[in-house]
Amino acid sequence: MSKEELVRRVCEQVDTYHEAAIELQRGLVACVALGPESDGVGEVEKAAFLTDLLTGWGLKVKNYPAPDDRVPFGMRPNLVAYLPGKRPEKVWVLSHLDVVPPGDLSLWDSDPFTLRVDGDRLYGRGTEDDHHGIVMSLLAVKAFLDLKITPERTIALALVADEETGSEKGLAHLLNTQPQLFSGQDLIIVPDAGGNDGTMIEVAEKSILWLKVTLLGQQSHASRPHKAKNTLRAAAHVIVALDGLQGEFPLENPLFRPPTSTFEPTKKEANVPNINTIPGRDVFYLDCRVLPDYDLDEVMARVQALASEAAEKFGVTVEVEPVQALPSAPPTATEAPVVKALEAAVREVYGRQATPQGIGGGTVAAFFRKAGLPAAVWMTANDCAHQPNEFCYLSHLLGDAKVLAHVIGVSSE
Ligand SMILES: [Zn+2]
Repeated sequence: MSKEELVRRVCEQVDTYHEAAIELQRGLVACVALGPESDGVGEVEKAAFLTDLLTGWGLKVKNYPAPDDRVPFGMRPNLVAYLPGKRPEKVWVLSHLDVVPPGDLSLWDSDPFTLRVDGDRLYGRGTEDDHHGIVMSLLAVKAFLDLKITPERTIALALVADEETGSEKGLAHLLNTQPQLFSGQDLIIVPDAGGNDGTMIEVAEKSILWLKVTLLGQQSHASRPHKAKNTLRAAAHVIVALDGLQGEFPLENPLFRPPTSTFEPTKKEANVPNINTIPGRDVFYLDCRVLPDYDLDEVMARVQALASEAAEKFGVTVEVEPVQALPSAPPTATEAPVVKALEAAVREVYGRQATPQGIGGGTVAAFFRKAGLPAAVWMTANDCAHQPNEFCYLSHLLGDAKVLAHVIGVSSE
């Protein structure tokens, strides 16, 4: 039987997995995997669920735990499992085990940690972010196993901890301690973001710069403004002045959406508790997503200069401090084999042309890229990660499993 014929059979098999997909999501949603930053116990329960499942399918599962004394088990699991193929090169699918907290429960129509099925929609915390990645990859593995078809390339699953809070105990740990696992010949797919029609292959990220802007003036009774240096009025002018950043860093790169750097004032700390006091201290934050062409120190210097200039008129001083400064990783080439393989597979399964794109950042793929490993972020997503009533489409899980089957099965050059 030809490779194409075999892959067609694998895809037909995936089409019979409606119930399997739902049951996988049900099991995963019930394992609450919150990190210690969210007062959670980590990912151990979900890792045990997946280890049992994959071991039951006959796969060997290795754990490379990262020590973490903030969680009761003292470690954060990072699982790796292989389904050997005819060739030694691997197709890695890296998904993460942890989820974000549900937030305000009154905004949910059902318990976030109990799967709710409504037609094609599967609701629950983590169903999209990132159980979508876990389930689509498991369905592809299951299809090869159930049909006893050896995949062309080895399927390598990485199921990691700590993605939502920095990846230090997750992929960063895996790359630091087990760099031999990954090779530049491997195709690395990170199903953790994507467009709603499967056509976005994310290959590049902007640099991230979060700044805390503190204005110091003079507090006074609101009836005596001549004795005050009003930091709230100054902050308003500073925020308007910072709109000038767009003009100072004007480059456009069509790979990115939006194509320019962005500079958004976001959080504002509370100042005085009462209406009749003029505030003498105000703090706000700026979230900058900067094209890789620009140096973050240069951006910070211009923020400081524009802010100081605007605040001076009010006799107020400004201090600008970085909260987070993450220079972007080198992009994955738009012609990289993983990008080409995904484009071909998306065409086969969805009949659409996928294109490599850049985003505002940041995904866990940056760790691969910084290690010189070309990774592509791809899945069919409906952009409800971290929101109440998070859901994923069952049909997308099956479709994306088929795309993966194509990448694994026929990707011979
Ligand atoms: Zn995610």
